[in-house]
Amino acid sequence: MREKIESFLKKKTDEINELAEFYPEKKALYIDYTDLERFDHEVAEELIQKPDEVISLFDEVLSGMNIPTMEENPRIHVRFKNLPKERGYTLMIRDVTSSYIGRFMAVEGVVNRISDILPKVSVARFYCNRCGEGHDEIQSTRFLTEPVFCRNCRRKDFRFVPDESEWTDVQRLQIQEPLELLEGGEEARQIEVWAEDDLTGEVTAGDKIIETGVMRLLPPQKRGSVYRKFLEANFLESVEKEFAELEISKEEEKEIKKLSKDPRSYEKIINSIAPSIYGYKEIKEAVALQMFGGRYGKKLPDGTSVRSDMHILLIGEPGVAKSRLLQYINQIAPKSIYVAGKGTTGAGLTVTAERDEFAEGAWTLKAGALILAGGGIACIDEFDKMSTEDRSAMHEALEQQTVSVAKAGIVATFKADTAVLAAANPKFSRFDPYKPLSEQFDIPATLLSRFDLIFPIRDILDKEQDKEIAEHILKIHRTGEGIKDLEPEIPTELLRKYVAYARRNIHPVLSDDAAEKIKEFYIELRAGSKETVMATPRQLEALVRLSEASAKMRLSNTVTVSDAERAIALTEFVLREIAYDESLGRIDIDRIVSEHPKSTRDRIRVVEDIINGLIAASAEGMASFDDIIEEAKSRGLDRFTAEGILSELKNKGVVFEPRHGRYMLTEG
Ligand code: ADP
Ligand code: MG
Repeated sequence: MREKIESFLKKKTDEINELAEFYPEKKALYIDYTDLERFDHEVAEELIQKPDEVISLFDEVLSGMNIPTMEENPRIHVRFKNLPKERGYTLMIRDVTSSYIGRFMAVEGVVNRISDILPKVSVARFYCNRCGEGHDEIQSTRFLTEPVFCRNCRRKDFRFVPDESEWTDVQRLQIQEPLELLEGGEEARQIEVWAEDDLTGEVTAGDKIIETGVMRLLPPQKRGSVYRKFLEANFLESVEKEFAELEISKEEEKEIKKLSKDPRSYEKIINSIAPSIYGYKEIKEAVALQMFGGRYGKKLPDGTSVRSDMHILLIGEPGVAKSRLLQYINQIAPKSIYVAGKGTTGAGLTVTAERDEFAEGAWTLKAGALILAGGGIACIDEFDKMSTEDRSAMHEALEQQTVSVAKAGIVATFKADTAVLAAANPKFSRFDPYKPLSEQFDIPATLLSRFDLIFPIRDILDKEQDKEIAEHILKIHRTGEGIKDLEPEIPTELLRKYVAYARRNIHPVLSDDAAEKIKEFYIELRAGSKETVMATPRQLEALVRLSEASAKMRLSNTVTVSDAERAIALTEFVLREIAYDESLGRIDIDRIVSEHPKSTRDRIRVVEDIINGLIAASAEGMASFDDIIEEAKSRGLDRFTAEGILSELKNKGVVFEPRHGRYMLTEG
């Protein structure tokens, strides 16, 4: 065996010399497993069965080669990659069972937890307390091991001296099964990984990696017989791509194309979304569009990318099948995750940094749903109940599709290119169509405005509709005749592949006519709410995304007028549902995002509110003119309007101006 390894490593002389030149920046010799296998089948097989022995032979041979480095005792690691999948050397996490103890294997996963880099003793220096003899003890396990007895006085009484010991970096991570490898809402399994030395700091939360290493066991803390398994990493490789894209055969591709030519394809797709849920045609349409997404990879001239994912929020009373719908989408979307806002796993939605036992009391970063579902859909239930940490990260996550963490010395940005389908319950269980949304939901207006479409679902008392829902629900619970119309028109497996195919291959571009159509509608919208800053270009982008998704649904690379019309119809539906201002008798976008509709009375209240707030917050008990205007602007009132109201309030004697530019409230 040794000779074989020697001659194998001889062939790597160039790489080894290069390594020597850059040591200790470079510390590892990378070996492609298939190379080794081609060189000698036996060594390769032995590596899989007895990795500890084979790797230490490699180490010995390497150190015997007298590699010329700046340091006297270079610690060069031999790292193996590219273990062939076909022969079962690359496993799913769930398949790493106890029969693999001590075996060499590769595992694919997404990093969902990662600790700080921690120091670990590699060679511990001990002194005998009786005779003072010094001992160096190589540490190979996770527990500090003392010499068996003193080589000088034969007794066993030592003290450990950290300063004179050798240390190496370690990092603990946890990886979970990539969501795209799971089918229909399966739970992702996870496993712990230990990385040492040059492998530390190489990957971060949310990274997709292939880990090569040895499966080991961790004894229980107290006496017990249940051990914990973990992987000791030999190599960690970041991969950019999805692990497994849904495979689409030639036949399936034919079927997909045939379906796209069906004049009823659009309808069929929508009918195949949650057929057991009655009604909600527009919601189902929107969610279907969301699965397809807008055109991916659009960039502005300055290089920033425009998001192609659309976000949808369902808000409504309990028991209207919101959770059901989310779970359904989780089943059919090619890549998705379902979580409740108050994550049961505690992993949260974005990224959390915590001190915990996972990192021996140091910091751990945990990747939440939006990171793990990158490139897919995150179905977030009870969105109103998310943690404060998530709430503040959510603005950035939804718009820029990144999550930044600046905490505990960690400054990092994570990618979160995920479409969000969220559901929320109103604060006071009943939903009031006359009150602005942000007053009824524990979701700040600024966050609401990040959603492309918001659907309010009301549990309206309607005998006719109740009867139909009842019949529909009862059908589910019966077998026989009725059940047939609850089957999706398109089988779920085909629909998943249809969506995956479109997402991968179709990149629709707006036609001139479609662009013109969208522009007209947008201008009309703006005109309807001309004083607000809230009917923003965001809405315009949302319209474009919806139109593109509509084209993708037909597998067309051109966005036509009819795609634009579909997007407009859906947007109008939502606006009518949500933004129709009874007192104005027309749509008012402010109702969605602003806490204050634009009727004059309400605007006056806003300014009063602002003054009150500023006075309460200031030491001198006065509100400054500049602050009032600034605050008013942030609440959607332009400067001109705010100034007008302020002088009106002064004229009426509600406020007075004791000093120039300083306002107080008149008592009483
Ligand atoms: P929510 O999350 O909105 O509180 P759920 O998703 O938990 O509601 O749904 C509650 C129950 O009501 C479900 O079992 C669902 O079957 C039923 N239900 C409510 N509305 C409908 C509907 N339109 N069609 C079919 N079932 C419905
Ligand atoms: Mg629910």
